[in-house]
Amino acid sequence: MAEKILSREVLARNLDAVIQRIEAARIKVDEHHIVKMVVVSKYTAVENIATLYDLGQRAFGENQVQQLAERMEALEDLPLEWHMIGRLQKNKINKLIDCDPFLLQSLDSLELAEALDKRLEAKGKTMECLLQINSAREATKAGVDPETAVATYREIAERFPRIDLRGVMTIGAHTEDQEIVRRSFETTRRIFDDLQSDGAEICSMGMSGDFELAIECGSTMVRIGSALFRDA
Ligand SMILES: *Cc1c(COP(=O)(O)O)cnc(C)c1O
Repeated sequence: MAEKILSREVLARNLDAVIQRIEAARIKVDEHHIVKMVVVSKYTAVENIATLYDLGQRAFGENQVQQLAERMEALEDLPLEWHMIGRLQKNKINKLIDCDPFLLQSLDSLELAEALDKRLEAKGKTMECLLQINSAREATKAGVDPETAVATYREIAERFPRIDLRGVMTIGAHTEDQEIVRRSFETTRRIFDDLQSDGAEICSMGMSGDFELAIECGSTMVRIGSALFRDA
């Protein structure tokens, strides 16, 4: 792979900077508000993942099943926690189940839940998942509409016993307008609040460009890629 291998010093500096920003943002919410970071490794070299592990990071996310499988295999000696965060095609479901990821964050429809549950049953497995919400109603983005999210979450929990729903995930609105981004996070936060009684514990929102705003809006899990792999 052609991705650049970064020095331990550069990665340590980037990691420290991001962790400090997460800390500052979460303490503004509440000193007891915990935020977990998943490092999105999709555009970086496998060597950089190993270095970040050495620096203390455990959770990593990939957006393609094929690359997830390759990286899990390449790094199988390290006790990493792998998240699937990208669109899951139906023909990749079996491969994903065989990977046995820590969390599928991108369960984005009732139909996908039905297909996944069926394959999980056949393989005698279960999977922890987040329901992805299309919080800005963008045609290019996956996820269930905010209006139907709570009902869909409950229907999946009731009908598909091999899917263990742990909360919700969203990608913030794709715009420079911070008020529109904020609204998409607040929409997701309200859905998350409504699902507290259904056991929702994880509200995954916030990427390199918007994680502080996401934390301010109640995110408990951020997914950070490019901010960690800068080379300057
Ligand atoms: C790529 C990706 C991220 C990380 O994006 P950065 O802007 O590089 O931090 C987070 N979530 C999802 C779903 C992604 O596909």
